[in-house]
Amino acid sequence: MSANKVKGTYDVLPNESYKWISLEAKIREVLSLYNIKEMRTPMMEYSNVFHRDSEGSDMVTKETYDFVDRSNRALTLRPEGTAGVIRSYVENKLYATQELEKVYYIGPNFRYERPQKGRYRQFSQFGVEAIGTVDPALDAEIIILAYDFIKRLGLKGVKVRVNTLGDQESRDKYQEALVKHFTPHIDELCDDCKNRIHKNPLRILDCKIDDKHKSVINAPTPIDLLNEESIAYFNEVKENLESCGINYELAPKLVRGLDYYSHTVFEIEADIKGFGAANVLGGGGRYQKLVSELGGPDLGGIGFAFGMERLLMALEANEIELSNDLDLDCYVITFNKALKKIGTKILYDLRNENIVSDMNYTDKSFKGQLKQALRYHASYLIILGDDEYKKGVVGIKDTKTEIQEEVKIENITAYLKEKMEK
Ligand code: AMP
Repeated sequence: MSANKVKGTYDVLPNESYKWISLEAKIREVLSLYNIKEMRTPMMEYSNVFHRDSEGSDMVTKETYDFVDRSNRALTLRPEGTAGVIRSYVENKLYATQELEKVYYIGPNFRYERPQKGRYRQFSQFGVEAIGTVDPALDAEIIILAYDFIKRLGLKGVKVRVNTLGDQESRDKYQEALVKHFTPHIDELCDDCKNRIHKNPLRILDCKIDDKHKSVINAPTPIDLLNEESIAYFNEVKENLESCGINYELAPKLVRGLDYYSHTVFEIEADIKGFGAANVLGGGGRYQKLVSELGGPDLGGIGFAFGMERLLMALEANEIELSNDLDLDCYVITFNKALKKIGTKILYDLRNENIVSDMNYTDKSFKGQLKQALRYHASYLIILGDDEYKKGVVGIKDTKTEIQEEVKIENITAYLKEKMEK
């Protein structure tokens, strides 16, 4: 039998996992500055958490991994992070103790999409949700956080595109205008769009098939139909962004794919050659109905999600190195079973002193073992041959200076600690 990975998935191999660890560490570091706590929800939920009546996005109607468990319960692997977080927020009544709950999550999602560059069937997102308060200053804070995070990663040329859908009244008016606008062209649009016009005409604007159709290009924008309150709300969001010098762009056509957004929506876009659609690193927006749809009170939230794979791709394209703390301080080289026993004890003592170390368990030649040590970027080699053992010493070689010294076995850790402090 040959075993292969599932289509659209990938393995993070041991020599690349440090990139993930380092990116996750960066996320935690930045998020703690904003007083945002981590939340971990299950990767599977009862299907109705995602398959809600109001939700007609492709992600939910066509791309979910749905299955029944052995007790015939309908379950879904989460295609995104927000709905599970809100389900938990409601189920644990977090609104009862906290006016504003700010949380972040990092983890895998599953969507049955056509795999391509930057698009997988299992992919990871890091996202933030701020739930419980509706305030333009909070919308601005969330956009500022997304911007700040990108800046701290060192990514250049990334754009923050911002728009508003307005409040429910404005959004309803906009939907009506879209129906009126698209009805004369409906026969020219794809079958999905023929349905979308009744369920959620905003989604026609995100259609990947009809995106070049003249009716899509000339469609009205939400800004044309905002009521006064919505204009004032959006102005305040923009003023807050400007007061922090955030370099955003207005994107009148940006509506985002999901059905639950109102007011502020935004996207973070890189401009890397050859990336195409994978340049969209993340996006988000404000939602009002999601908390009540999942059984909670009428509270709004705002959030965003970044694709971890796309962040890593963008970092690589920008030639930004993530720190690799997994390099070895020390590598022990021995040549037979009896010496390995001594090596085991040396390793134990080194690790007790927090010196990152390892050894080779084969009887390979010195050259073979050295190769392995260099692959781990070991700073020091501890060489223990029969001759050394007879004298009660080891050879310790600094791999940078190539200077080798003889050190008594009982002095190894003290010697290395002193060297490493310099
Ligand atoms: P969405 O949840 O669709 O708004 O996507 C937010 C971000 O998640 C996107 O900008 C991508 O960076 C990432 N993303 C979404 N779907 C995928 C996928 N199938 N594969 C990889 N990344 C994805």
